[in-house]
Amino acid sequence: MKFSIPRGTFDLLPEGMKSGQKWRESSRWHFVEEQMRQLAFDYGYQEVRTPIFEYTSLFVRGIGEHSDIVSKEMYTFVDKGSRSLSLRPEGTASVMRAFVQGGMQSRGVFRKLFYMGPFFRYDRPQSGRYRQFHQFGAEMIGDPLPIRDFELIEMLCELYRRLNVKISPVKINSLGNAQSREAYVHHLRDYLSAHLDQLTPEGRKRAQNNPLRFLDSKDPKERELLKGAPSLLDFCDHESRLHFDILCGLLEKGNIPFCIDSQLVRGLDYYSRTVFEVDTEDLGAQNAVGGGGRYDGLLAKFGGSDLPSIGFAVGMERILSVMECQGCEIPPAPVPFVLFIPKGEQADQYVLSLLYRLRCQHIPSEMVAAKTLSKALQIANQLRARMAIVIGDRELEERRVCLKEMHSGAKSEVGISDLFSFLIQRWEEDGL
Ligand code: AMP
Repeated sequence: MKFSIPRGTFDLLPEGMKSGQKWRESSRWHFVEEQMRQLAFDYGYQEVRTPIFEYTSLFVRGIGEHSDIVSKEMYTFVDKGSRSLSLRPEGTASVMRAFVQGGMQSRGVFRKLFYMGPFFRYDRPQSGRYRQFHQFGAEMIGDPLPIRDFELIEMLCELYRRLNVKISPVKINSLGNAQSREAYVHHLRDYLSAHLDQLTPEGRKRAQNNPLRFLDSKDPKERELLKGAPSLLDFCDHESRLHFDILCGLLEKGNIPFCIDSQLVRGLDYYSRTVFEVDTEDLGAQNAVGGGGRYDGLLAKFGGSDLPSIGFAVGMERILSVMECQGCEIPPAPVPFVLFIPKGEQADQYVLSLLYRLRCQHIPSEMVAAKTLSKALQIANQLRARMAIVIGDRELEERRVCLKEMHSGAKSEVGISDLFSFLIQRWEEDGL
């Protein structure tokens, strides 16, 4: 019986393979990941790695049971020990848990943590929205001041600047504190109740269970209705409003383009005060490339001290895909600087030891054994090697090799005793 395996939907492949989309090339990911890591280090962040799955209760408690993520999108299963576990749908709850359980709060200073890796949400897949996706995220724990909000938003914008990604002005809003939000939710519910006949069945559910989520509605009719809805900023408590105004002033002085979107709430229930989101015009419906906010009460929910915190998360697939759309430059994957074509047992031995010495010097080098020289040179072309060198017993006897520059076809002779130092010198001159 023929056995067929369903197609892998999230393969990242080496450059030049048939992946369909350029952004699925692993070398592009290395470049972006490297930029993200460097940015995090420049801003004083250290990496935290948390497990791929956690107790389901962590996410229910952290993200909120009525959020779309928890109520509909988690990959939840019961393990052999009858524990309910879930693949992580986002990073903040796990980082907060790790922070508390890892004893990091006992040091009493603020902490900057970043993470990078796969996340899972069972949502309707479409371009830019995947069931397995990757995020780079940063969490700053222990400082309530608006200068931290500014610093984090600046860091996010700096990431796009370093990657040459063009973004729209950062959307920002304030959700106020728990009491002011409650008052707002009360008014919003009243407003929505008066218009129930205009809501979709999903909208009605949201209006009842979690009216804030209604602000995320993508339905054109509901969006129209929202134009007349009460504004979150009008309900902000005095301190949150002051915090927000200081942040806006800092963004203005810091030349960070932003716009106030008084209906921005974002999909996770733990936010308080500042929320922000970054969109691009080049990705169609799924155009958010990053976002975040303050979550001042979250740590206490996990048994930690009541430390204020703020963070962001960036969707890596979307970044790579927008970089492809906008033609942002990405260094190509490394190719062999030199490719040896050994012929004969003695030559094999010689080439293996030369390859080892070159690789120890971080010079990408390769060898190929083919039936004919022309086949070997064809492979050298396919691998985009810079130069090819044939080494056979005759070359070893005569102590000279012939070197072919693959792009120009130019040939030259090099003495065997000088070959290693010659290649090192060439690499230093034009290989890097
Ligand atoms: P969130 O954790 O929902 O605040 O999302 C942060 C960022 O992750 C978004 O701005 C997107 O760039 C990205 N993202 C969220 N969900 C997905 C998904 N299902 N597929 C791809 N990227 C996603």
